[in-house]
Amino acid sequence: MKKYDTIFLDRDGTLNPDPGYISDLKDFTFFPFTFKALKIMSKCCDRFCIVSNQSGIGRGLIDEKNLKVIHDFIRNTFSENNLKLVDIYYCPDHPDDASENRKPGTGLFDKAESDHGIEMEKSMMVGDAGSDIEAGVKLNMDTMLVLTGKGPETLQKLNEKLTPKFVVENLLVGAELITS
Ligand SMILES: [Mg+2]
Repeated sequence: MKKYDTIFLDRDGTLNPDPGYISDLKDFTFFPFTFKALKIMSKCCDRFCIVSNQSGIGRGLIDEKNLKVIHDFIRNTFSENNLKLVDIYYCPDHPDDASENRKPGTGLFDKAESDHGIEMEKSMMVGDAGSDIEAGVKLNMDTMLVLTGKGPETLQKLNEKLTPKFVVENLLVGAELITS
């Protein structure tokens, strides 16, 4: 079993269903398997970090205060499950005017690396979008595409430049695969 320094997680479509621009905690729910999966993953990794594009802020659809409530809920749920979540980074940029922080840009990963002393080449990125995989590949991380959320769409768009190391039905199947 390969050990990872940090497993980076996308949020929407990876940890929770993605109805689009979740602007209130009442619309946020983890997949039923999410914490079972993360506990299994914790056998090969002591810490997790969430990196999320939240263009709903730039589009004026999500209030940053509400996003904070959702992220506090996520932090608390990790903590109740005895899982170490080092941080939640999000990019509020509108795609038409995006900085390097918006995935597939690596700005937020670079920040995580320096904030928490993460060894990127010993880490993994898990997500449902091409931008998740692209960011991971740029940083020489292992990459896992989950076929939840936008995953099936992303699978159609893969090419030799954008090849995840693992393609799995969902986070739980991925957790079992990398710890077997
Ligand atoms: Mg996603």
